[in-house]
Amino acid sequence: MIRFDRVVKRFGDTVVLDELDFAVQPGQRVTLIGPSGSGKTTILRLLMTLERVDGGTIHVGGECLTHVRRGGRLVPADEKHLRAVRKRIGMVFQQFNLFPNMRVLRNVTEAPVHVLGLPVEEARQRARELLELVGLADKLDAYPAQLSGGQQQRVAIARALAMRPDVLLLDEITSALDPELAAEVLDVLRDVARSSDITMLCVTHAMKFARDVSDRVLMFDQGRIVEDKPPEELFECPEHERTRRFLRSVL
Ligand code: ATP
Repeated sequence: MIRFDRVVKRFGDTVVLDELDFAVQPGQRVTLIGPSGSGKTTILRLLMTLERVDGGTIHVGGECLTHVRRGGRLVPADEKHLRAVRKRIGMVFQQFNLFPNMRVLRNVTEAPVHVLGLPVEEARQRARELLELVGLADKLDAYPAQLSGGQQQRVAIARALAMRPDVLLLDEITSALDPELAAEVLDVLRDVARSSDITMLCVTHAMKFARDVSDRVLMFDQGRIVEDKPPEELFECPEHERTRRFLRSVL
């Protein structure tokens, strides 16, 4: 479960999130859409602890991400706490960020072995299963540069899942790919969604992605949620003028 309570985020004088509240239930697939600059990526970066809140709290899996209790008082979380919570969250970026000098299998086993302390053979077995799930069982020995963009992105998804995160964050993961390769990645995510109960939070400008993979879409504008609906409702009969205008510009 993910919960934002009155979250405030500022960059200088710019208030990007202004007392934002929302919750995502375990196993839900939620897509964040909205115009450029509306705060979507900032939400993912806060969840990855790449940014700190200026107010409010964030909970993940019942645990507070932003604060710890010390001497009966809530104080901002320290690096040790953040490292522990971060392990439960996987993230896939627009630029695949694979280790270029490692073969595919090693890209997927590296963090489970070195961060979780999994025995190498167990990590390899799990990596093989995940690489099969993403359709790359025949590429275990390839280097990233020998793969297409879509294949590299599928390795990145397997790598994130190898950490067995409770939550998977996906930031514009198809936007660097041409439509055919983007469709491959989308198919893989549909399979991942079907075969696991992982909670997914996706930021995307690809409305087909929002429609096909998510069971809930949050439409953002200026750091606020203007509409929160299942995709078929939001796309077929948007309630707010802001959503209608946005959808006209992207569909
Ligand atoms: P896009 O769809 O273009 O990726 P977004 O909805 O994800 O946009 P954010 O990237 O979250 O929007 O940015 C929200 C606002 O915060 C923007 O006005 C952006 O300029 C500002 N912002 C984000 N990161 C920083 C930063 N590190 N320093 C200053 N301003 C920032």
